[in-house]
Amino acid sequence: MPFSKLNLSPKILQSLQKSGYTAPTPIQEKVIGLVLSGNDILARAKTGSGKTASFVLPILELWSRENYEGKAKIRTLVLTPTRELALQVAQSFDTFSANLENIPKVLSIIGGESIGDQMYDIQQGCDIVVATTGRLLDILQKGQLNLSKLEFFVLDEADKMLDLGFAGELELILESLPQKRQNLLFSATYPEKMVDIVSKITKNPIHIEIEDDDKPIVEKILQRAIEVNRENRGPLLRHLLDTQKWESVLVFMANKRAADNIAAKFKKHGYKSDSFHGDLIQEERTQTLKEFKDKKTHILFATDIASRGLDIDDISCVVNFDLPRSAVDYIHRIGRTGRADKSGVAISFIGLEDKAHFALIEKRCNIKLECEQIEGFALKGEVVVKERGNAPIKGKRKSKKDKAREQNL
Ligand code: ADP
Ligand code: MG
Repeated sequence: MPFSKLNLSPKILQSLQKSGYTAPTPIQEKVIGLVLSGNDILARAKTGSGKTASFVLPILELWSRENYEGKAKIRTLVLTPTRELALQVAQSFDTFSANLENIPKVLSIIGGESIGDQMYDIQQGCDIVVATTGRLLDILQKGQLNLSKLEFFVLDEADKMLDLGFAGELELILESLPQKRQNLLFSATYPEKMVDIVSKITKNPIHIEIEDDDKPIVEKILQRAIEVNRENRGPLLRHLLDTQKWESVLVFMANKRAADNIAAKFKKHGYKSDSFHGDLIQEERTQTLKEFKDKKTHILFATDIASRGLDIDDISCVVNFDLPRSAVDYIHRIGRTGRADKSGVAISFIGLEDKAHFALIEKRCNIKLECEQIEGFALKGEVVVKERGNAPIKGKRKSKKDKAREQNL
């Protein structure tokens, strides 16, 4: 089915075409029409299935059919679990409204950026707000946000919001919304703990579920495990980068310092690399991601914050330089590649001391990878099984036990 069957205006269809969206994804096909006819929706579909456009497009369509007069009022509020997602969703509204006669004013209200500027922008009037809950509440509580004209309330990545403990903040925000509104909830999973909060938002949403019957994400990803000694991981990565044709590589590190250090080292070796982690201020995070997306940076060394929720397409390869702690983290990490119908490679470096841990991850993920070795970087040494060491030497004076032993001799 083409997009043109979905009752979207030609202007929106043009912008879809410009973005290379030729046909709706299954979730878009089901949801867009239902939103256009005014329904509340609870939609579940896996990450990467195109949930964003399934609310952005019909909201823009309905908005553009109205002839609002006077200063812009907030008609749409989208809540997302992370700042990056908020920016991505805002971007999506901008992209698909670019050809409209009236272009809605879209604001992202997120932490880490100037609250003064955001309040000023709100004062100037805007149509669509995409926000993270903390900052939105700050502004609400200052009495600086009027949501009385709200028509659409969207909760994006609802499962993740609850994971991150935003239920309380969410409830506070709900108190400021008008009763009559259209609610659109999107999630990759629908765990038990969501039921309660969903019932506080909407009484009778239409449930849309897209089963993951097409290939699960991990099948589009070629997973490899390469055995290498810890000290050889850097040289091996450089070797791989030099021999493979990867454009964008996301490398996961155990911690922020390791990410910073290795990024600096690779820069010295002439690679376009950078680091990404939670210590960066928002501006730096945005900038770093932009450069990576624009392919100005080829290798991004990141901690696990980059593995959740981020929508960076076109990552050719994910490398677990340090193994993730859990199987869940493993899946999140490798899922950063192989998105939007592209294939990808995920490589895990396995050192002597990692074998047992990786075996556990494999078991939990129900996979079994053939461990490879790369010429020149073969794994050396034996797994050192830690023996129970001798008791530490406490002091020179003999203990009571020592004396007793001597007497037994
Ligand atoms: P989700 O929110 O379900 O994880 P997104 O909305 O972030 O998924 O979409 C994943 C990727 O797929 C994005 O890069 C998006 O631009 C792309 N995409 C979404 N819908 C389409 C479509 N109909 N045609 C082509 N690409 C699409
Ligand atoms: Mg999404």
